[in-house]
Amino acid sequence: MPATSLDQIVALAKRRGFIFPSSEIYGGLQGVYDYGPLGVELKNNIIADWWRTNVYERDDMEGLDAAILMNRLVWKYSGHEETFNDPLVDCRVCKMRWRADHIHGVCPNCGSRDLTEPRPFNMMFRTQIGPVADSGSFAYLRPETAQGIFVNFANVLTTTARKLPFGIAQVGKAFRNEINPRNFLFRVREFEQMEIEYFVMPGADEEWHQRWLESRLAWWEQIGIPRSRITIYDVPADELAHYSKRTFDLMYDYPNIGVQEIEGIANRTDYDLGSHSKDQDQLNLTARVNRNEDSIARLTYFDQASGRHVVPYVIEPSAGVGRAMLAVLCEGYAEELTKALPADKLAVVGEALQSFLKSVGRSEKISAEARDAILARGEELGQALAERLPEVEQLLAMPGVDQIEVGKKLRGQAQPLIDEHYRTVLRLKPRLAPIKAAVFPLKRNHDQLVATAKEVRRRLQLGGDMRTVYDDTGAIGKLYRRQDEIGTPFCITVDFDTIGQGKDPALAETVTVRDRDTMAQERVPIAELEAYLREKLRA
Ligand code: ATP
Repeated sequence: MPATSLDQIVALAKRRGFIFPSSEIYGGLQGVYDYGPLGVELKNNIIADWWRTNVYERDDMEGLDAAILMNRLVWKYSGHEETFNDPLVDCRVCKMRWRADHIHGVCPNCGSRDLTEPRPFNMMFRTQIGPVADSGSFAYLRPETAQGIFVNFANVLTTTARKLPFGIAQVGKAFRNEINPRNFLFRVREFEQMEIEYFVMPGADEEWHQRWLESRLAWWEQIGIPRSRITIYDVPADELAHYSKRTFDLMYDYPNIGVQEIEGIANRTDYDLGSHSKDQDQLNLTARVNRNEDSIARLTYFDQASGRHVVPYVIEPSAGVGRAMLAVLCEGYAEELTKALPADKLAVVGEALQSFLKSVGRSEKISAEARDAILARGEELGQALAERLPEVEQLLAMPGVDQIEVGKKLRGQAQPLIDEHYRTVLRLKPRLAPIKAAVFPLKRNHDQLVATAKEVRRRLQLGGDMRTVYDDTGAIGKLYRRQDEIGTPFCITVDFDTIGQGKDPALAETVTVRDRDTMAQERVPIAELEAYLREKLRA
């Protein structure tokens, strides 16, 4: 079962170094996060997989890396200066500010309906260019990577001699001054996008829109988000962005956040290339564009068959790296029973839970709201304690619980049982796992075991692409748990048999490889280890 609560993911991300709040030692910066040692690996692996699938494995794609800062005119003609606005309302009671389309007329903070009229707020960040701060010398931090592709259309076309249809892929940072950044990585102010602009002949757009929908769903499945977990939202006409003829939003059911967009696949027609072109009235554009008086180029394609210049239509699959990572973590997360729970010990925890709930019910130290929430959660848990024991941790982390003395007793009863009988495992696709293999010596104070384990790790790392680590900071069982929790598909143990000092001489020069998902162990010769792992990592 995937994660049931966003808290599980936030806690794991912090505990194991996937994600940190930005500038944490100064109190953080709202809506901005840093990727830690494991987070950067996972993020890079997601991006690399996207690039491999969409650029290397196709023969109709090119890559691009445009700058974040661009001429301000790009954002004038793209429509962003005019329309990249969200309607904002202020709550007159608690003074909080919200996006009108997110709150249905009620302040989520205080429940008041006394809100101001919605007014537009431009979400682009501005920054100063050069030393003199006059009104003309500013630029925007790009709010999407797409425009870097459109304004380079002619450059890519002439340097690669591509024929339609073809596409340009780009991964890069984007910035939006979101009014209410929230939900961890889901809505942030600085994020990365993976975008494709796919150029087609006008008329072929609807067919290619469908093809890209299929292709993108297949990729999500490939990185561990099954088709059955994604809903396709065919955006109704009155919600479409100004450039779109039709958009499919791919929606993932994030715990606590709900069913939300993970990727948008838009038919942008000839809007963008048309907007950035000169001589627009000679181009037979179908989109309504702002008159362009600054561009020095026509962004057209010469169609040999008809002998005419056309402005291609564009299909745009646009996905966020952070939202992808969050979905991958949620989908892969599991807390599972590894050993049957003894009924007597479980009964003791059950009793501790009941007396904890009684105490919560009687307590006057916590608010009625917090009390009801704890009781509801606790009673639900009590009904299925054998299956959901680890959720006791979340129950004990709820607001108000620190006021309840017997909470400590419940923790004391539950924790050892959880530690012994459950494991947290991230069932990441091996291709995405931050660390592919971890190598352990059976004993850390034995020179030959240590040296051999380090040599095994060094050799695996020589291939260059399989991140492999050495660890001897605990007993093997504990090291397995640590690797399970971060999604490492393989743990390799060097023991006395490996170094020819065990009971079975036939096992010399072999190691034990333990599989994350099945927990099964296999003996593999060191000489064959790399090939063995590569075969499995291809999955
Ligand atoms: P939303 O309606 O959720 O604000 P959007 O429709 O404005 O999103 P697009 O402009 O279509 O989003 O951007 C394409 C992708 O970029 C989104 O599907 C999402 O994955 C990602 N993205 C957009 N805004 C953010 C953000 N503030 N934080 C993280 N990712 C984002």
